[in-house]
Amino acid sequence: MTPLTAHLKKRIASGGPITIADYMAECLLHPEHGYYTTRDPFGTGGDFTTAPEISQMFGELIGLCLTQTWLDQGQPGRVILAELGPGRGTLMADILRAGKAAPGFLRAAEVWLVEASPLLRSRQRETLGEVRWADSVDELPDRPLFLVANEFFDALPIRQFQRDGETWRERQVGLQNGKLQLGLGGPVTRPDLAHRTDTQDGDIVEICPAGGPIIASITTRIAQNGGVALIIDYGGWRSLGDTLQAVKDHQPVPVLDHPGEADLTAHVDFEALAQAAQATATTQITPQGVFLERLGITARAQALAQRLGGDALTRHIAAHRRLTHPEEMGNLFKVLGLHPKGALPPPGLTP
Ligand code: SAH
Repeated sequence: MTPLTAHLKKRIASGGPITIADYMAECLLHPEHGYYTTRDPFGTGGDFTTAPEISQMFGELIGLCLTQTWLDQGQPGRVILAELGPGRGTLMADILRAGKAAPGFLRAAEVWLVEASPLLRSRQRETLGEVRWADSVDELPDRPLFLVANEFFDALPIRQFQRDGETWRERQVGLQNGKLQLGLGGPVTRPDLAHRTDTQDGDIVEICPAGGPIIASITTRIAQNGGVALIIDYGGWRSLGDTLQAVKDHQPVPVLDHPGEADLTAHVDFEALAQAAQATATTQITPQGVFLERLGITARAQALAQRLGGDALTRHIAAHRRLTHPEEMGNLFKVLGLHPKGALPPPGLTP
């Protein structure tokens, strides 16, 4: 039994079943035993590999996109370059290298990272040196905001509701015969799910209570001061069904079996995020493969290939494919851009 399993059983035994969101929050960010609190989970020796860890091309193209947007918005003098959930800091390092194409952008930019895990903060310090950290978007200084979030929103706790006639029953984590067990709460009405007329009895829908307020805070800043946000994650326009997933050693595992020792994520519902972005314009959600191709990943891949041979070249070609091919990350992952109303959308997100 993991230490977190013991803690969860105690909590449920005394307070009753907990929501999926409570379960996720405990598993991912419990101050002592949480998944992100206790480890660096990325890469081949870890549990999963993210786009910036696959190839430097990913971060370089994001960096070019942000830099071009800064140029398009008239090169504002002091801006915040922020990342949510930066993992090892690899994406930001690649953004900063690409930003050298427009040195004025780097001079104008103050780097801020929003990161909950102290362990990952120190990992980010190793990669990036002394930057600034915040616990939430609300703490970022009030200036034009150039923000990126890759695989951040999928780690935010979700709640799940199963349709039962005109009511909904919440999926919960309880105890049965001393073991963690999924169950359903009593029927409740959910005005926030009234628009889910696309569902039938037994269907599960997910909401991410933390997502909307974070987007609202980002868009208020961008509407007032300028800037852009690029939200990259897996999911679709409207989520349907149970998408909660646990991953350990690059393999899916049952969601209740390894509390604190497996990554837990859910698909991002981009419709809900776009609806919270009233203060700014939103782009259409664009498949990651299309976005990277429009920004020139193939030309960049060819240029880098000139200097490679043997295994390194094989790995490089595989990385290009993995980031862009529809059967790999190219289609499952989407990019949503938020920008001031009336400003040009960021490159790569319009046909
Ligand atoms: N963007 C990185 C890492 C993705 S993993 C990459 O693409 O490689 C999710 C990241 O979000 C981790 O750094 C994790 O510690 C952080 N995180 C998760 N929940 C968070 C929260 N509520 N607030 C701040 N950071 C969070």
